Amino acid sequence: AYDLEVANVSKRYGDRSSGLLAVSDVSLSVRKGEFVSVIGPSGCGKSTLFGIIGGLIGDYDGEVRVGGQSHVGTHRDIGIVFQEESTLPWRSVLANVALPLEIQGMPRAEREELARHYIDLVGLTGFETSKPAALSGGMRQRTAIARTLAFKPRVLLMDEPFGALDEQTRLLLGDRVLAIHTELQQTTLLITHNITEAVQLSDRVVVMSYRPGRILKVIDIDLPRPRS
Ligand code: ADP
Ligand code: ADP
Repeated sequence: AYDLEVANVSKRYGDRSSGLLAVSDVSLSVRKGEFVSVIGPSGCGKSTLFGIIGGLIGDYDGEVRVGGQSHVGTHRDIGIVFQEESTLPWRSVLANVALPLEIQGMPRAEREELARHYIDLVGLTGFETSKPAALSGGMRQRTAIARTLAFKPRVLLMDEPFGALDEQTRLLLGDRVLAIHTELQQTTLLITHNITEAVQLSDRVVVMSYRPGRILKVIDIDLPRPRS
């Protein structure tokens, strides 16, 4: 069973027939529980593909299915973690993580319990009442990951989630994401230009070439994952 299917997706910016072809006939599928990375150099169409899957970019050819359902612009079943800061600075870590649950109408006690569980999972227990501004960039990004996981999306979509962090924090966060994936078996699609990160984290790597949007190779990585 596939949680995410991208079938023959193409996207032109500008004019529909003569505009720049940013993504050309891309197909890829992500099985339930699988962790797939999409890598490729700058300009190959990764962010465009991400936007299409996340429901942020419309007017494309082809089809995106989430949980077998044709995906029509909404990204209800897709949890997105962006590269840039997305935590609300004036809300505590707990209130940030609980926000999507609050919007869903979950009662306070229930959403706070769930939020604490995901805060623990990302290693931020003890920082529930902290404001993101008082935390490091890595900790803010972990807050964003906890918030996205807490509403249990079918597919977790991450676009260069560690891109703004220093190398050491990247490595630590990579280990953390791997441990969380091992525990939750959350279906994940990671977009990155960092091959080390892709190989470290993924079950499978999809390589997009520099020819806009064309996937040259789909590499199936069969490496044992480091477990701690
Ligand atoms: P990547 O994320 O791999 O760097 P992008 O999806 O950002 O690739 O870009 C793919 C191509 O589409 C590039 O040639 C880029 O310049 C172009 N592009 C991206 N966004 C837009 C836009 N909003 N309008 C026009 N062209 C765009
Ligand atoms: P990361 O946030 O990925 O652990 P950072 O470099 O962003 O890495 O963290 C900066 C510092 O914040 C760490 O060196 C550590 O002292 C402190 N810190 C981060 N996470 C925690 C935590 N869960 N508990 C206590 N201190 C922490």
